[in-house]
Amino acid sequence: MKPGSVLIVGAGLAGSLLAVYLARAGWRVEVVERRGDPRARRHIAGRSINLAISARGIKALERAGLWQDIAKDAVRMGGRMIHPTAGAPHYHPYSSDPTLAINSVSRSALNLALLDAAAAEPNVTLSFDERCTGVDFSAPAATFVNDATGATRTARADLVVGTDGAYSAVRAAMQRNERFDYSQDFLGHGYKELVIPPVASGPHAPFAMEPNALHIWPRGESMMIALPNPDGSFTCTLFWRHDGEGSSFAAIRTGADALAHFRTAYPDAVPLMPTLAADFDRNPVGTMVTVRCAPWSRGAVTLLGDAAHAIVPFYGQGANASFEDCEALVDALAAKPSIGEALCAYEGARVANANAIADMAKYNFIEMRDLAGRPAWQRRKKVEHLLHRIAPVRFTPLYDLVSFSTVPYTEAKARGAATARAVSRVIGVAVSLAVALVVVAALFATGAVP
Ligand SMILES: Cc1cc2nc3c(=O)[nH]c(=O)nc-3n(C[C@H](O)[C@H](O)[C@H](O)COP(=O)(O)OP(=O)(O)OC[C@H]3O[C@@H](n4cnc5c(N)ncnc54)[C@H](O)[C@@H]3O)c2cc1C
Repeated sequence: MKPGSVLIVGAGLAGSLLAVYLARAGWRVEVVERRGDPRARRHIAGRSINLAISARGIKALERAGLWQDIAKDAVRMGGRMIHPTAGAPHYHPYSSDPTLAINSVSRSALNLALLDAAAAEPNVTLSFDERCTGVDFSAPAATFVNDATGATRTARADLVVGTDGAYSAVRAAMQRNERFDYSQDFLGHGYKELVIPPVASGPHAPFAMEPNALHIWPRGESMMIALPNPDGSFTCTLFWRHDGEGSSFAAIRTGADALAHFRTAYPDAVPLMPTLAADFDRNPVGTMVTVRCAPWSRGAVTLLGDAAHAIVPFYGQGANASFEDCEALVDALAAKPSIGEALCAYEGARVANANAIADMAKYNFIEMRDLAGRPAWQRRKKVEHLLHRIAPVRFTPLYDLVSFSTVPYTEAKARGAATARAVSRVIGVAVSLAVALVVVAALFATGAVP
């Protein structure tokens, strides 16, 4: 269709990338963001300090010509480094292909790079300090308030896209209409960010631990993870239950109590975290929510990114999936003769995939916090990688399909499940053979077989 005007509500990761795509496709783009303009101070406070960006995000950022620059400050993570309560950490590659890695990227730097790219397009207008308070679906238009001055205004466009995150005001307006399906499901766990600072000396200096890995301290019901930053620090994220006894934010409330708990639960991390108690006291506990809704569009207003499908962070796919949404929307607008048909095609391409990654992200929490610490899971991963090396197309593990390919999430889920069944069969056969061998050996040993 012929490009017109678009109003993008929210200049986070998805909104900024979408602005770049649509401006280059010839649309007149207005982006309105609730927060202040972060470009002067070069920092954006966010829900996590760093993010894992993988194949889907890389593809979308390459399409905007941005990945090469962002990659310069990314730290590659080729596998998981598992830290048991006792004993040395052990490394498990993500893939049987050692060249594959996910990338730890600063959320703030990524968002700034996207905003800079949007601002560089002559047909993009960026406005800050304006919070969306409502949507007129028939116009279509959105209303905004400046919370500091109280000033309000209405902005109109041919197309309105809500990229205003997990607690989207655009989605809230859609919810007031009939036949809008909506569910939100808060995780019983919260998260708190902590830090491992750079070190002056040591085998990995300035990093205190192996930099090219995602570190996991799996503890059954809870866990801590750490992602490397280019300055040599690691951002640790503690995932504990909100309520209950043991490792929970209700039971352990102060930095001093956290330090005491860490000495028994995460002993190898304590010497690396000199500011643990202060960080624990200072940093807030975040919540995690899965949001599903349908339809994503009403008239010429649509949702994209977390506004359409917030997911829990355990597959590191929320931003990656949101960037894929941007590609799907811009492709649909280019291919279809009207906005209505384009939004229909966009939703058709994305809703089932968003639901699939939401399911997989939830399951991956169990894998990370519990299974990854178990020898049986570690053996299973080895068999999975062996099968992948023997028949890479037939037996592609789920992690590879999600993180190192761009096949639709629904296909990744189905193919990953088939590979998991094949792994179970191989392990079943191997166990049966081992049992048979033991029995035969025993028969020979007892003289039952001459
Ligand atoms: C702890 C944690 C770790 C994560 N790790 C990863 C990871 O490793 N890899 C990954 O791919 N994803 C990860 N994610 C998910 C990722 O952060 C999100 O999926 C991604 O930020 C979604 O982008 P978005 O633009 O849709 O939303 P956001 O980035 O949240 O942006 C929304 C924007 O809209 C603005 N806004 C909100 N309300 C209004 C309003 N009423 N009016 C105007 N503007 C408004 C906000 O200020 C914000 O700028 C993680 C999330 C969390 C919580």
